Amino acid sequence: MKIDLKDLSIEKAHNSLKNGEYKVSELVDAYLEVIKEKNEELNAYLEIFKDDIEPQVKIAEEMFKNGTATKMTGIPIAIKDNILFEGHIASAASKILESHRAVYDSFVIMKLKKEGVVILGRTNMDDSAMGSSTETSAYGVTRNPFDTTRVPGGSSGGSAVAVAANMALVSLGTETCGSVRQPSSFCGLVGMKPTYGAVSRNGIIAMGSSLDQVGPMGKTIEDVEILYNSICGKDALDSTSLTDEFKLGFPKTPLKKRIGVPRDFLNGGGIDEVVIKNFEESCEKLKKAGYEIVDVHSKTMQYSLAVYYIIMPAEVSSNLARYDGMRYGFSQDAPDLYGVYSKSKGGGYGKEVRRRILLGTYILSHGYYDAYYNKAINVRDMIAKELLSIFEEVDAIITPTVPFPAFKLGDKMNDPMSMYMCDIFSAPANLAGIPAISIPSGNTKDGLPLGLQITAPYLREDVLFTIGKDFEKLV
Ligand code: GLN
Repeated sequence: MKIDLKDLSIEKAHNSLKNGEYKVSELVDAYLEVIKEKNEELNAYLEIFKDDIEPQVKIAEEMFKNGTATKMTGIPIAIKDNILFEGHIASAASKILESHRAVYDSFVIMKLKKEGVVILGRTNMDDSAMGSSTETSAYGVTRNPFDTTRVPGGSSGGSAVAVAANMALVSLGTETCGSVRQPSSFCGLVGMKPTYGAVSRNGIIAMGSSLDQVGPMGKTIEDVEILYNSICGKDALDSTSLTDEFKLGFPKTPLKKRIGVPRDFLNGGGIDEVVIKNFEESCEKLKKAGYEIVDVHSKTMQYSLAVYYIIMPAEVSSNLARYDGMRYGFSQDAPDLYGVYSKSKGGGYGKEVRRRILLGTYILSHGYYDAYYNKAINVRDMIAKELLSIFEEVDAIITPTVPFPAFKLGDKMNDPMSMYMCDIFSAPANLAGIPAISIPSGNTKDGLPLGLQITAPYLREDVLFTIGKDFEKLV
């Protein structure tokens, strides 16, 4: 039978598998066929885990037989190349980790394995998750399926394209600042950054540890919600992961049905006309769904991007110190230790990663630490506090996800500042540790997807799902 992958959801697939309409192997084969047809051009996957698919399928089919199947059992999923899956290469699309094989499972993979998910392969991304277009990958660019001359967004571009082009039902990406939401917006998907600590970072190749978080991507809010529920939870191996008791301190109070628009922040300029128009239409749709849309005022959100580009490189320079050509990864010979370091790091990392290591080292150096790093930490705190007070008045804050639709390949590669502008609306949520989601909100007249971003208070993913589902019905 021919399975309609385009409109498939986890729920639909689960029911079909349960009722015996098709088998897990047939569902997986349907995706593998599309991968065969499309991946060469789109380059969403860096590797398909060929030898490993059959045993995973067997486990899933067994679970259906013995009645232990969950909604996620047998669901074909793609994972970003910075998520450790035991025995498989995890390179973070960097040359420095080209042949790095994971020796253990990340927490999220352990959770998915328990549910009998079928992990199809690892997806392309920006080198070490630094970028907004998947162009900094050491393994070639990924193309946007809506227009192959355009970028898919990044850094989780491969995970977005895998789902958008029907090469996986859902996928996992990671966020340090927008890397799940921004490619979701460019590829017409739903993508969520959970509350910091809701999903364990154990087994994720670190970028900026105080900001990093794994996030689910899919075609519908419901798919993203199901995947999120299966990956979240306390993990003793990540000291920042949150306990259930802690979460009880943030009860799911009823919605006020009031949503805030940070007008001053949006009026800062740099947003495409088409994005503004689409955003205003989204506001109207939410009004129709019974929400009151009010202006909220923020003095600090406008500083988020600047603060992110201080804190993130500082953490990057510290996290990436371990790739020194001595312990693992790409290594070059030289007559002395400094030579090994400089040739290995210089040859193993792309330009953008090197730029950030240099910036971060400078920011953390004696004499500049207070002027840059400490100041940024203080402003981060102010942003989080201000958001907290805004959330006393409203359930959520909305903005466009990105100030423009997917841009042409190569357009921003020589202009880092304009590339960084992709992150302007993403940064507040990562800095404050709160959840945010991007939802498809329509297309440009050329058919490029646009996204609406909803940001909710700490541990209130449920608010994102509720408003998101109300909105989804009207698009
Ligand atoms: N665009 C962000 C950056 O370049 C993406 C980081 C991320 O979320 N991994 O820093």
